[in-house]
Amino acid sequence: MGEIQQNIIDIEQRITAAAQKSGRKREDILLLAVSKTIDVPRIKQAVDCGLKELGENRVQEILEKYDTMGKDVCWHLIGHLQTNKVKYIINKVKMIHSVESIKLAEEIDKRAKQSNVIMDILVEVNIADEQSKFGVTPKETLSFIKNIAFLDNIRIKGLMTVAPFVDNPEENRDCFRRMRQLLVDINAEKIDNVNMNVLSMGMSNDFEVAIEEGATIVRVGTNIFGKRVYPQQ
Ligand SMILES: *Cc1c(COP(=O)(O)O)cnc(C)c1O
Repeated sequence: MGEIQQNIIDIEQRITAAAQKSGRKREDILLLAVSKTIDVPRIKQAVDCGLKELGENRVQEILEKYDTMGKDVCWHLIGHLQTNKVKYIINKVKMIHSVESIKLAEEIDKRAKQSNVIMDILVEVNIADEQSKFGVTPKETLSFIKNIAFLDNIRIKGLMTVAPFVDNPEENRDCFRRMRQLLVDINAEKIDNVNMNVLSMGMSNDFEVAIEEGATIVRVGTNIFGKRVYPQQ
């Protein structure tokens, strides 16, 4: 058995266990394979194991892999997105996880309209208020959503966060819990067009804790493909 296949079996078991532990169903959680820096043959090994939804953080990398990976898979944009690049991916991705400015939401709406699609988006929340991170602050999230909810060609599906990098995943439990509470609180506002049920949170280091706290999408790269090797700049 290949290493990637073995890794996926291991992750699957851990997801199932975390779901059971918290009284949830395995099928309510998507394992998104984060394929940034990974070449197509290795990504295909993961796809052959049933992981058909792929996450990339750069537009350019989606464009490079898109044709070769073919129609069996679908793509999620999970990293920071520049407004001027929206047009390249509007017809290529299933969901954009990293919406954090009104300008970006408006551009996605505009390009989606031109392409006659409705784009599913998540609002990126900087849950721990880290200087180095993208995302709206927890305090700003409600008003941000109110400001973009009227846009016809985007559908706000939920919230996403990149939690702090920690040694012990338990340290992020409170962040994940606050993410879920934020989603519940915003839904309770009954904003027109807003009924969110997606929580994209948890990575290789902390996906089990995220699942226990309500994640519906976990974004896992390293645990599937091994440590990433970045090309020298
Ligand atoms: C790289 C990346 C991941 C996956 O991180 P791992 O620790 O390798 O699992 C998840 N989310 C985002 C936004 C990323 O950029």
